[in-house]
Amino acid sequence: VPVAPFDLVVFGATGDLARRKLLPALYHRLHDGQMPIEARVIGAARAQMDAEGFRRLAAEALDEFVAPADLDPDSRRRFLATLDYVPLDVTKDDDWQALADTLGAPDPERPRAFYLSVAPRFFGVIAERIAAAGLAGAHGRIVVEKPFGHDLPSARALNQSLARHFDEGRIYRIDHYLGKETVQNLMALRFANALFEPLWNAHHVDHVQITVAETVGVGGRGPYYDGVGAMRDMVQNHLLQLLCLTAMEPPARLRPDDVRDEKLKVLRALAPVDAARDVVRGQYGAGPGVASYADDVGDADTRTESFVALRAHVENWRWSGVPFYLRTGKRLRARMSEIAVAFKDPPHSIFAGAGGRAGANVLAIRLQPDEGITLSMTVKDPGPGGMRLTPAELDMTFAEQLGGGGLRMPDAYERLVMDVIRGDQTLFMRGDEVEAAWRWVDPIIAAWEERGERPALYDPGSSGPEDALMLMHRDGRRWREIS
Ligand code: NAD
Repeated sequence: VPVAPFDLVVFGATGDLARRKLLPALYHRLHDGQMPIEARVIGAARAQMDAEGFRRLAAEALDEFVAPADLDPDSRRRFLATLDYVPLDVTKDDDWQALADTLGAPDPERPRAFYLSVAPRFFGVIAERIAAAGLAGAHGRIVVEKPFGHDLPSARALNQSLARHFDEGRIYRIDHYLGKETVQNLMALRFANALFEPLWNAHHVDHVQITVAETVGVGGRGPYYDGVGAMRDMVQNHLLQLLCLTAMEPPARLRPDDVRDEKLKVLRALAPVDAARDVVRGQYGAGPGVASYADDVGDADTRTESFVALRAHVENWRWSGVPFYLRTGKRLRARMSEIAVAFKDPPHSIFAGAGGRAGANVLAIRLQPDEGITLSMTVKDPGPGGMRLTPAELDMTFAEQLGGGGLRMPDAYERLVMDVIRGDQTLFMRGDEVEAAWRWVDPIIAAWEERGERPALYDPGSSGPEDALMLMHRDGRRWREIS
């Protein structure tokens, strides 16, 4: 469905995120007919260049980050024609006039959005200048990226600095995990099918595992990442959002605040964790041809974690006693993200002596690679050997099932940027959600700091530190393979 012609200002338009994600996402939306050619995308960054220069930069970004098969010369040309550029140091008053001139007066018929693809320390000043210059009008939206604070007080301060100039209904906090097709599919799976929801509770679910595993190390992000770590960079936002969507009650409608209210309730129901018992932090060591985390960030003494595993409990009626195991890390065996809901064994087995084990149904929602859904089942081993049981999988890979093999899975940013233009906040974090997540995470980090321990070292290419395996073994359970 095409959106109305819009004006989108991208602060930080020459940066990594804009080149790798935003510009390609907008290109795809135009190519697919959703972004009208009357739309304007106005880049704003410190670099001194004109619109032509920015179009060249954008053209290079498309050539690099859009798959050649999707890069249609005609769409590419039409997309580049929507681009404009204003050199702007957001901290300099004088520079703002040029942006105001380029944008013109707000038009109530034309959605207007300001995408802050810059460091969070600029969020406050940008919001203030936009408001002072009257650039946003009554309906203009502001979009901010992660990290949204590094603890509760800083997140609160960010919320307040935005709230001074924008109503909550106009603030779009991106957690790109929420834009992933599979994550939205989790909602469809749960609430558009009658099959799962009756089982989606402590009576039938043994536990839930959420894994976001990366193979890459900290790479060039060292200066940012060191001192932040996996807990703040991944768990506080992405993994907790996945947990919320898995655990939340069915919202009455798919309205933004109905969904966000339910997610907030989950965050508020999270029991405080004992950092010493329920949380494992790790740091990758060196391996053959692979530098250690400490070498990557150039600090032999660094105590930042590149891996976290933890056991959480949602203390409410539905989930009483069901552990949610979360883990994420860098330099692990494979790049894999999934939510796995492990169901309880059948109450009684009639197959004693039949080999294999009955039950252990696991519903796995795969975010990457190969977005899709797998249901592990127990079936009869084929053949005349009698009743022998064997595990098998019902496997649905979205790209194959829904696109005849040729479906391109849209990137999360495509969906999210169009939602901003449409004014739909369902897939964006509300301020109180972000604060509730920090409220739960902060004491864990404080406990680490108090103990002053080093994270446990793990081998690159492994599944993380031994202690993370123990976290589940202790409960008589095991992590799924990272593969
Ligand atoms: P970057 O360093 O590559 O780019 C920063 C951009 O900000 C550049 O265009 C630069 O010109 C501009 N800028 C810096 N100071 C400015 C000023 N005073 N006035 C105007 N423009 C200024 O950063 P990035 O990686 O693109 O990240 C941008 C934001 O997105 C950050 O908040 C980052 O945390 C977040 N983010 C990035 C990624 C990613 O994959 N790169 C992922 C998630 C979130």
